[in-house]
Amino acid sequence: MKPRLLTPGPTPVPEETLLDLAKPVVFHRTPEFRQALAEVLADLQYVFQTKNLVLPLTSSGTGGLEAAVANCIPPGKKAICLIAGRFGERWRGLCKAFGIEPIAVTVPYGEAVAPEQLAKALADHPDAVAVCCTLSETSTGVAHDVAAFGRLVAPTPALLLVDSISGLGAMECRTDDWHIDVNITGSQKALMLPPGLAFLSVSAKAWAAIEANTQARVFYFDLKKARAALQTSDTPYTPAHTLIMALRHSLKRIRAEGIENVWARQALHARAARAGFQAMGLKLFAARPADGLTVVRMPEGIDSTTLLGKLEKRYGLKLANGQDQLKGKIIRLAHMGYIDQFDILAALAGVELVLREMGHPVDPGVGVAAAQRVFAEAVSAAGGRS
Ligand SMILES: *Cc1c(COP(=O)(O)O)cnc(C)c1O
Repeated sequence: MKPRLLTPGPTPVPEETLLDLAKPVVFHRTPEFRQALAEVLADLQYVFQTKNLVLPLTSSGTGGLEAAVANCIPPGKKAICLIAGRFGERWRGLCKAFGIEPIAVTVPYGEAVAPEQLAKALADHPDAVAVCCTLSETSTGVAHDVAAFGRLVAPTPALLLVDSISGLGAMECRTDDWHIDVNITGSQKALMLPPGLAFLSVSAKAWAAIEANTQARVFYFDLKKARAALQTSDTPYTPAHTLIMALRHSLKRIRAEGIENVWARQALHARAARAGFQAMGLKLFAARPADGLTVVRMPEGIDSTTLLGKLEKRYGLKLANGQDQLKGKIIRLAHMGYIDQFDILAALAGVELVLREMGHPVDPGVGVAAAQRVFAEAVSAAGGRS
């Protein structure tokens, strides 16, 4: 049986990257590594669509979120947290941990925070110094209209901090055009690497706030120290340099394809996955679905924990369950990064087989056919080009 990792983090890693990771470990304070780091950070500027400095951190994605909060927001200040799921809640938890007052703007799981809700929160709290949100809320599969958030936040003194960990490289994200002050991602989602690295882009407005924040409770995650080291393409502490070297392969892939083509391909994957599940009679969980993953509700009487267990045991298909109160109620299929259209078809075929086994009526192939139709239409729309 062939295992297929189809979870929204970690995601599969391309073969050439795996081979790179199998090489002997070298020392990191060398001209070769500095050059690799400089190259990676320049290519990341392209993936982020930013002219701002991108900083690497050796941590999981949450370390990047913590660095953003701890450096940019002084203790005792207010931050508006847009909460549509677990990762929005993580922003609130981080604010509390650093003595910042979170102003929560919450919507039920499955819905997206509307720009009007942010506009009201900004009007009610003109003293808020930051707005924290997710681009893709991985716990529910919802995408936020970050471009609209940026238009609202840019004219205010507040900073826009975006957790785009499952969104960057998986859907349109224009850091500079959308006025994102700190944009954070991790290595193990659309960047096609194992976990272990976080990256943040920091705008001039955010650097001004960081420099003015004399009470920042930071040591390892001190972004000023990281910026100073980067002047010589170095890092303050030992970086996960084998991952940084390996990241060159993913970034070359993205550059070769072109970021807008990557976004279009991811959007196509998302459309196909949605069509496939809906043709099986399953309902989408997200009112405003993201492109990097698709989340669907289980039909009456089907427990997703049982379904996912069978999918993995019988067919090697590893999809994700819901978290906390959504456990057993939804399934989450990732289609970002190195997951291709045939992985999506495999996942849909497996879900059909297991649903039938569990007594839910599904005609074999209905979901697969609906997804195939979406792929086929994209081929004809392109007019057989390339
Ligand atoms: C995966 C993910 C995280 C990340 O976390 P880790 O610290 O790398 O486990 C945070 N936010 C979002 C939206 C994610 O999808």
